[in-house]
Amino acid sequence: MTASAQEEMTPMAQADTNPLLAEWTGPYEGVPAFDEMQLDALKPALEAGMAMQLAEIDEIAASTEPATFENTIVPLERAGRELDRVFTYYGIWSSNMSSPEFREIQQEMAPKLSEFSTRISQNEALFERIKAVREGDGYADLRDDQKRVVDLTYDGFVRNGAELDAEGKARYAEINKQLSVLHTDFSNNVLHDEEYYVTYLTGDQLGGLPDSFVRSMAAAAEERGRPGDYAVTNTRSSMDPFLTFSTERDLRETVWRTYYNRGDNDDEYDNNDIIAKILQLRNERVGLLGYDNYAQWRLEDRMAKTPEQAYDLMLAVWPAAIARVEEEVADMQAIADEEGADITIEPWDYRFYSEKVRKAKYDLDSDEVKQYLQLDKLREAMFFVAGELFGFDFTPVEEGSVPVFHPDVKVWEVTNRETGENVGLWYLDPFARQGKRSGAWATSYRSYTTYDGETNVLASNNSNFIEGAEGEPVLISWDDAETFFHEFGHALHYLSSNVAYPTLNGGVRDYTEFQSQLLERWLLTEPVIETYLVHHETGEPIPDDLVAKIKNAATFNQGFATTEYLASALVDMKYHTVDPTGIDPDAFERETLEELGMPDELPMRHRSPHFGHIFSGEGYSAGYYGYMWAEVLTADAAEAFADAPGGYYDADMAKKLVEYLFAPRNSMDPAEAYRLFRGRDARVDALMRDRGFPIPDGE
Ligand SMILES: [Zn+2]
Repeated sequence: MTASAQEEMTPMAQADTNPLLAEWTGPYEGVPAFDEMQLDALKPALEAGMAMQLAEIDEIAASTEPATFENTIVPLERAGRELDRVFTYYGIWSSNMSSPEFREIQQEMAPKLSEFSTRISQNEALFERIKAVREGDGYADLRDDQKRVVDLTYDGFVRNGAELDAEGKARYAEINKQLSVLHTDFSNNVLHDEEYYVTYLTGDQLGGLPDSFVRSMAAAAEERGRPGDYAVTNTRSSMDPFLTFSTERDLRETVWRTYYNRGDNDDEYDNNDIIAKILQLRNERVGLLGYDNYAQWRLEDRMAKTPEQAYDLMLAVWPAAIARVEEEVADMQAIADEEGADITIEPWDYRFYSEKVRKAKYDLDSDEVKQYLQLDKLREAMFFVAGELFGFDFTPVEEGSVPVFHPDVKVWEVTNRETGENVGLWYLDPFARQGKRSGAWATSYRSYTTYDGETNVLASNNSNFIEGAEGEPVLISWDDAETFFHEFGHALHYLSSNVAYPTLNGGVRDYTEFQSQLLERWLLTEPVIETYLVHHETGEPIPDDLVAKIKNAATFNQGFATTEYLASALVDMKYHTVDPTGIDPDAFERETLEELGMPDELPMRHRSPHFGHIFSGEGYSAGYYGYMWAEVLTADAAEAFADAPGGYYDADMAKKLVEYLFAPRNSMDPAEAYRLFRGRDARVDALMRDRGFPIPDGE
């Protein structure tokens, strides 16, 4: 069928013929038809899916019966299944199998999808019914998890302006529209400065740089029409190695200044005015809803709950971080003096001299470590850990029995070790290829729920390992091995869910990274080392002294890493707690850092004019603290295992881990769930120990 013929069909007719909308069939309660994905079908499928969901919503909203949990909330949970299925394929095209043709459809559909969600969130009749359930007599008789679904749904509507009057709603929508333009402009300006400013070098300016980096610089120059030159592009992956290795101090300063001035060059791509406008609009919008400041609104449904709690954590760690910077700078200055460099350490010297400190104090040969990290063995190690802690068994499905979108993708059946019952499937797409986004991520194609009968889980992990030669093991770096475990932690979080309703599978941003960070800790446990971290030729386990070096290296340069991160997180929080009327971001940033006592030798990890996490959208605005919030939980929970009689494989602890930290997803308040696991709130001490910092007094 041609695309145009499909576009003319009604939503119901689409549902009968469009493969992307179709009910999943086949084994394991039905699986996505990844072998039938046709890009032609995507746009009509999205349009039909939206139309079908809006029809379902209208039907719920139009009901004349008194609103109840069963006739309002449950059908709302159920609405949009067809569109959900389309989004499974959409996610594959966007992350695993992208193409210019797909990106065209994506651009065309983005505003339509945003309009679609506004139509739901501003549906007044629907909100009235949700409110009636929330405030009605029946609410008290609901189960706790049902109450939570009602609360999360109700709060979501209120937090997005459902209770405003007509004038307020109109202004609210107008602000959001303006913000979406400003967010896009902000990120395009950063992109411009990343692409436009390139530092070109000649062959006699390459002192200290590793061969592989020189080759990539030559290729980057050639790509830009300057064959024979060498290009340092204005991105972290280019700046970082250059500043670490280049012996040309003046050039280090140039590259450093170019990088940290992205979006701050006083030209048409300068972001300072945009930041001021964004902050004022955000503040006005939450003002309409009655909040004092943006951070208050943002953190209300996060684990931290209030800006004050997030500040407390950050300021507890800050003094130790800047004190450590002072020690690191002293170490570096000593090396520079010994070499007779006759300099004072400046920000463009930090990476260069810290690399010399690393070599002297922590030398770890990453190539030596790699010999013990085979991709297949690591996967078996993850299965082993999942078996011990979660009672899951992983068995490969028969080749061809479950459709996949690329021959590299392999699928395992996950079963409950005790009962033999099917828990779900685990898809692994391990290797890099054209059209696949970089990095590693986890996703689920179907989540566990019980409200319409039990469903099994379809979880996936995706990485960008480089495929080895035929018959050769794939060897990966230590960082990549940790990330592999991390992403598998997300998959286990999906697979262990025991919630009743879809809404309860939702993530809380400062909490959902914790479970996956925690799983990384099993990589260095005794049984994993003994059986799985073995040399690819000799089969010998990784030697103790190499393990000790890996552990020791974890505290290297923590002053720098923690301070550059916290400076960004603190400035983010302050931007979103002050009155932004007439704010001058440049002065604000400088004064805030001065008040904090920011060391002169390093900048914020992301300076305001290119802080995309908080100004390219709202995902991390007033939320950059969340990485450290999750790490506090991770370090504290890991110590609970380390101290248990059975260590990391203690049966009691494993039971609590699954029961309180993984299975409930968002069906229970995260702080309460953590207390049930640990018997108390998390403390910051363990994180301080992990980073090699002294513990603050009174802890
Ligand atoms: Zn993660």
